[in-house]
Amino acid sequence: MEVVDIKKSPLAENPVIGQMLQYNHEQVVFCNDNETGLKAIIAIHNTVLGPSLGGTRMWNYNNEMEALNDVLRLSRGMTYKSAVAGLNLGGGKAVIIGDPKKLKNEVFLRRFGKFVNSLGGKYITAEDVAMNSHDMEIIKMETDFVSGLPVSMGGSGDPSPVTAYGVYVSMKASAKEAYGSDSLSGKKVLVQGLGNVGMNLVQHLHSEGAVITVYDINEERVKMAVDNFKATVTTPEKMFDLDIDIYAPCALGATINDESLSKLKCKIICGAANNQLADEKKHGEAVKAKGIIYAPDFVVNAGGIINVFYELEGYVRERAMKHAEGIYNTTWNILQIAKNENIPTYVAANRIAEKRIADIGRIKMSL
Ligand code: NAD
Repeated sequence: MEVVDIKKSPLAENPVIGQMLQYNHEQVVFCNDNETGLKAIIAIHNTVLGPSLGGTRMWNYNNEMEALNDVLRLSRGMTYKSAVAGLNLGGGKAVIIGDPKKLKNEVFLRRFGKFVNSLGGKYITAEDVAMNSHDMEIIKMETDFVSGLPVSMGGSGDPSPVTAYGVYVSMKASAKEAYGSDSLSGKKVLVQGLGNVGMNLVQHLHSEGAVITVYDINEERVKMAVDNFKATVTTPEKMFDLDIDIYAPCALGATINDESLSKLKCKIICGAANNQLADEKKHGEAVKAKGIIYAPDFVVNAGGIINVFYELEGYVRERAMKHAEGIYNTTWNILQIAKNENIPTYVAANRIAEKRIADIGRIKMSL
């Protein structure tokens, strides 16, 4: 029988394993249940450091390839996020295809839980887009491999305070690099998005005497920041023209793009949102060229995964907070490597993650 070298085959002919080869994914599980209409993909990118952990996202994807691309990209991102955060976790993610409003019910979620359970702990699930803690409670009926449960179920509850604290310390480390001092007192900070993380961050910034400008599409959240933390309000039109020191994206991804970068005058970008760089390579280089210190999002917002990790260990919030405090040193190290090697900060962060996986992988092989 002729052996086909898949690496030489065009991706179009090998759209599944061909894609897995590209970023070295370990395992992809396709799940189907005709009775409930459940269609899901679980992707395990890397389990060298520990079981793969990452949320389940439910989305009405246009087609299966879109779902596969998403789960492969997201699971790989989780490997890097956990590795650089110093956690003993690998990277995984699940996507459920379909409209949550039409499909999600107890049987549907329990069926998904059975699929997660069938992997014997190699993949641990958690909340993500269109999945909430109540859904996790239902999934938990069929599997123990769930994290991010509510406090009432012995879980860690809302991770946002831990995430916000991680953003805050990362911002301080970035300030130390930019200004020689990590004090944020008097620094002009723009916070975009005042959700669970953004508002907590504003509270830290206010306590330290930062000058805060905010924007959120939700007027109530804006009023809360103004009333409680003396924030000034801006608009989406004016936001990137402001004279600011630090930009903290805490709402959406892809806000660092050609348009915002043509205007932004800040010295630091450090916020909670995922996938802040519209095009990682292009805009990662562009921020560097502009002399802006960009604290990589997956380093900055690791408080969420740190929190979920400690739930697996028997949750104590102080331990999660202490670990999140380490994001200060991690950020600092990344900024030093990026400066010394003249590389974008996200590349420096990736290198730290890859080195840790390679090093730990080596000792795991030894007797
Ligand atoms: P959230 O849903 O509580 O808050 C998001 C806020 O952004 C809301 O107040 C919303 O009104 C606002 N918003 C939406 N569109 C906006 C726009 N165009 N301009 C300005 N504001 C807008 O979310 P969160 O938990 O605070 O998380 C914030 C970001 O951080 C998200 O991107 C999330 O993926 C990421 N993140 C969160 C955690 C966590 O622990 N919660 C962990 C890692 C990453």
